[in-house]
Amino acid sequence: MIQRFDAGEFPYGVFSLRGANSPARVGVAVDDQILDLTSLSADSVFTADSLNPFMAKGADFWRVTRDQVRAAVGRGDGNYLPASSATMRLPVEVADFVDFNSSLQHATNAGLIFRPGADPLRSNWRLMPVGYHGRAGTIVVSGEPITRPCGQFSDDGTVRYAPTKQLDVEAEVGFVIGHGTRPGDRVSTSDFASHVFGVVLVLDWSARDVQSLESVPLGPFLGKSFATTMSAWVLPLDALDTARVPGPVQSPAPAEHLRVERPAGYDLRLEFSVNGSVLSRPAFGSMYWTPAQQLAHLTSNGARLRTGDLFASGTVSDDTEFGSLLELSWNGSRPITLADGSSRTFLGDGDEISLSAVVIGRDGSRRQVGEARGSVSPARC
Ligand code: CA
Repeated sequence: MIQRFDAGEFPYGVFSLRGANSPARVGVAVDDQILDLTSLSADSVFTADSLNPFMAKGADFWRVTRDQVRAAVGRGDGNYLPASSATMRLPVEVADFVDFNSSLQHATNAGLIFRPGADPLRSNWRLMPVGYHGRAGTIVVSGEPITRPCGQFSDDGTVRYAPTKQLDVEAEVGFVIGHGTRPGDRVSTSDFASHVFGVVLVLDWSARDVQSLESVPLGPFLGKSFATTMSAWVLPLDALDTARVPGPVQSPAPAEHLRVERPAGYDLRLEFSVNGSVLSRPAFGSMYWTPAQQLAHLTSNGARLRTGDLFASGTVSDDTEFGSLLELSWNGSRPITLADGSSRTFLGDGDEISLSAVVIGRDGSRRQVGEARGSVSPARC
């Protein structure tokens, strides 16, 4: 359910009509309806099968469109369709995908689980928002089933190739690049909003046993690359402006190019569920590294941005609420009981995961961001 945004910021998506040979088009979510933007404008960016042509137009065009949509909704102009009559497409043709690891609590928990007795944080963690390049081509829209991956792992001292026994998923917040850069350019923390079109929710599916064996020394590979889910609706970044909060105090002080001049965190409250049982409600505002710092770091070597680039926050965990089964079950040692009485350590076939979020404004208002969900299909190996 997407609800109306008082500030006039409507989430954008790409849809086609269910059951017909219907072309893709761009729409905005208005309550439980979709306003078809091709009924308001003849611009070809709204008949595209992704938001990329629209996003590539830049921030001035986004705001003009936002104002047109706001006026049309106010007057009741345009063609509205029930959301139930539409099939949502992947909203973005994802160019490059980067996943960060910016929650202090998650990084600490993972360190305690995988490297007991050692300092849970690596020495670089507080110096920069660490991350890795993921696989853009396996990003799917919310609702698409995820096939349990097969891979090499060891669970009894012998390495074998089999369906993962430790399928996990990480609750994350993602940001989509609208306006790219030239090679060699850097994006300062204060230029964040000129390049970022909007925010999505991300499910980072993870095969922990595969990941454990493969990750040394080059980091995540097949344990992460089989699938990533993003929400069908992209909420414009401006919708988060009233939800800005200072990030946690950073110590040591970050390098000059990673400093921020105004609050750069966002007060989003996530809700992470399995089969309808809420597992946690982690606070995105608790993230140690903020999205503006992540983007500044990502481009600090001059790597160019392209329209459609997606970068995700890393698992959102705070002091008490954890955004992965790895942490919730403490690597399988503490089974989680669901509402139906069954228990989980990692995910079973048929399990359905849902991630939603609300934006908490300074006035206390709460607005829904969207939803990313996916269910687990049996392995095919
Ligand atoms: Ca992740």
